[in-house]
Amino acid sequence: MRGWLTALAAAALLAAGTAKTAAAQVRGAGVPILMYHRVDGLVPRDAVGRSLTLEPAKFEASLAWLRQHGLHTLTTVELVEALKRSEHPASAVVLSFDDGYEDAFTTVLPLLKRYGARASFYVSADLIGTPRHLTWRELRAMRDEGMEIGCHGSRHLDLTVISRTQKRYEIGHCAAALARYVGVPRTYAYAAGRYDAAAMEIVRASGFEAALTERAGTVTSVSDPLELPRRRVDRDSSIAAFAELVSGK
Ligand SMILES: [Zn+2]
Repeated sequence: MRGWLTALAAAALLAAGTAKTAAAQVRGAGVPILMYHRVDGLVPRDAVGRSLTLEPAKFEASLAWLRQHGLHTLTTVELVEALKRSEHPASAVVLSFDDGYEDAFTTVLPLLKRYGARASFYVSADLIGTPRHLTWRELRAMRDEGMEIGCHGSRHLDLTVISRTQKRYEIGHCAAALARYVGVPRTYAYAAGRYDAAAMEIVRASGFEAALTERAGTVTSVSDPLELPRRRVDRDSSIAAFAELVSGK
């Protein structure tokens, strides 16, 4: 069994607690893991870079909205631990940031601190310290503020088009580098959301407890820990669209 609970056990859990059932009705069935890349007032000129970059004011408005509505943030590891304890964090949302751009330290971290929020940051080991990317020192400072630092491959390669040896480097070297310079990583985010059975096997064998995809959906007690869905936050979306994203429905 890959999920934390069977569907039957999950149904029994919900039936057992009326409070839990009520929370699930208000909130929807799952915990959303939101996917971000960059938050920066300097918007890249290229279309892809632009689409991946959120205005800081917009990101701050979403943090304010979460606080106003009593939703709190968990890291991916905290969500995984809650589900292992058969808890369903009905008023939680996970903020995840891919690719390790330096604005994670200069822009995102101060905003998260201002709102008492936390996030999981997924970095590619061989890109750390390269232009426009985070440094190991910045990652340690983020860790010390309660942020989770997870793996996003060594070179950000598509795991489905490389050999098994290369897969081992992508996953294993990233894990080893983070363990050495920041702390043992416990969760993984597949680069470009691409993975296959061999990649999942290596991720599991490397000690990761969960892995994030780019498949749409929310996390429930029956989600496969190595195939957790995420919801992309679009730079052009309104606060109403954000509210819909975090509704869990
Ligand atoms: Zn990426």
